[in-house]
Amino acid sequence: MITISGQAVCGGIAFGKLYHIKKSVGMIERRHIDDVENEILRMNNAREEAKSQLGALYEKALLEVGQDNAMIFEIHQMMLDDLDYVESIEGIIRDQKLNAETAVANTADTMADMFASMDDSYMQARAADVKDISERVISILSGATSGGIDSDEPVIIGAEDLAPSETVQLDKSKILAFITEKGSSNSHTSILARTMNIPAVINAQGIMDDSLNGKDMIVDGFTGEIFIEPDPDTNARLLEKLKKVNEQKELLNKLKGVKPVTKDGQSIMLYANIGSMEDVPSVWANDGMGIGLFRSEFIYLSKDTYPTEDEQFGIYKSVAQNMLGKRVIIRTLDIGADKQVDYFDMPKEENPAMGVRAIRICLNRPEVFKTQLRALYRASAFGKIAIMFPMITSLSEVKRIKEICKEVTDELDKENIPYNKDIELGIMIETPAAAVISDILAAEVDFFSIGTNDLTQYTLAIDRQNSEAAKFCDIHHRAVLRLIKMVVDNSHKHGIWTGICGELGGDLELTETFLAMGVDELSVSPGLILPIKQKVLNTDLTGRKDELLSDI
Ligand code: PEP
Ligand code: MG
Repeated sequence: MITISGQAVCGGIAFGKLYHIKKSVGMIERRHIDDVENEILRMNNAREEAKSQLGALYEKALLEVGQDNAMIFEIHQMMLDDLDYVESIEGIIRDQKLNAETAVANTADTMADMFASMDDSYMQARAADVKDISERVISILSGATSGGIDSDEPVIIGAEDLAPSETVQLDKSKILAFITEKGSSNSHTSILARTMNIPAVINAQGIMDDSLNGKDMIVDGFTGEIFIEPDPDTNARLLEKLKKVNEQKELLNKLKGVKPVTKDGQSIMLYANIGSMEDVPSVWANDGMGIGLFRSEFIYLSKDTYPTEDEQFGIYKSVAQNMLGKRVIIRTLDIGADKQVDYFDMPKEENPAMGVRAIRICLNRPEVFKTQLRALYRASAFGKIAIMFPMITSLSEVKRIKEICKEVTDELDKENIPYNKDIELGIMIETPAAAVISDILAAEVDFFSIGTNDLTQYTLAIDRQNSEAAKFCDIHHRAVLRLIKMVVDNSHKHGIWTGICGELGGDLELTETFLAMGVDELSVSPGLILPIKQKVLNTDLTGRKDELLSDI
């Protein structure tokens, strides 16, 4: 038996076989080859396979999103046959005797640079397309699985690291656990694992060793231990632990329907964070009182092109209807930083976490923003939708957002399209700037939701994606807790409520502190709702508030 110790990011125990997911890009091995003709044949076969994959995608898109949106896949098929493209790849293989993967990657880089430098914006946008088709060919050549899990039975996923866009495309019914060699606990992939309630371990050195692929193992998502080909004692011990975990779950299930109120009578709303409409059943299964954060960007991340207004409307309407009148807070598009979407064709940034991300992209591209807002407002006629805006730093941003919302509702009025005229508009407080001016911002909105993941990264100047810097991160740092208290106090002074939707909201060590601060709502991964409820029910704040807040 081999044991690997990593960092636990989502509790749970999984027994199964390891399935390596290899990255298609960024790991291209540059090799010299002798058999040129064979290499060209490999490349042409991969091109044919890519075209047939695109054909299947075209058919699927045609049914789901209509011809206009499906056309991109036809264009990609044609690009794969483009003479300049094919000749350039063949030329590199023949003249430089390099492997097909390298030849495709080099051609993609050269052509993408050429497109990007053109004046015509249509041609500039082709840079992303040439990269996209080339990534598909490279992943076929290198046998990497991009999105699919080619196994009949559910598996334990092993990867060097996973981007959010890769994680959302995986078939969740086939995943028993996630293990990555890199990563950080507040990265969106860890957050997604928690949302899906799948055991997950990061920083597991050695898990990508080829010899481990397909091996039986046990993942302990509580301790971060991975037991490869476990001996009988370990097997029995972990089976026993799994039994206890299931018993504890049964106990927690008994809390369903019980209102989260402390012994001294203080109540709090316990909501769920979700990333897709498929997560709604687990909100019900865990007794969520509403949805406190629907990360709408995952709709964009799981697609190859912009989701249309109707498509988004369908999703938001379905979530609102399925929540039967409970509040559903949908956050507008928050891409950029680690959540990159190729078809947005964003220029590469030196420091993307501080670059043009989230609301900045929406304010730069009002047409994209308005499409989403129209879908949200239209869906608000079918349930209790609230809209929330990410990455706010200033009053002028909030004012501009409200102007754009007004333009959208004026249009809907003209078109006689119904929507909820009293829809709640809220903002995320996830930058120190927003926290510090929360007294001013409170006058403009209906609620605040504190995004502690970004608030921590920006307050402590620690990149949430950087596993090396993570050791300098005190997740209970006073600076962050003080800002949270300040935001709650300011919101209450102005008669609005404050929730926490960052990962700190699910930290049981802080539940009492948040209650003492008067936080009105905690929005957490569905699987954490009942454990927090248990904590709330066991808490008595009588005479303890000052003591609980004395360290802040
Ligand atoms: C946050 O920053 O805390 C948050 C909830 O948003 P995200 O994790 O999606 O950036
Ligand atoms: Mg955030």
